[in-house]
Amino acid sequence: MRCGFCGYEFREEEGNQGCSSCPMSSGCKMIKCPRCNYENPPEPKMIKTVKKLFRRGGTPK
Ligand SMILES: [Zn+2]
Repeated sequence: MRCGFCGYEFREEEGNQGCSSCPMSSGCKMIKCPRCNYENPPEPKMIKTVKKLFRRGGTPK
């Protein structure tokens, strides 16, 4: 995913999920940019699926 603030690209797993100590339930799902610590909302699964289709060449079976 790409940081909405500084444009740095990183994997969601690489992001600092700093909200594990968040008092809200089991933490919110914001992903912090490892570079600037901006909290990015997680990408919806639908967008990921669309991106995968484009990577394959845009011709899903
Ligand atoms: Zn950033």
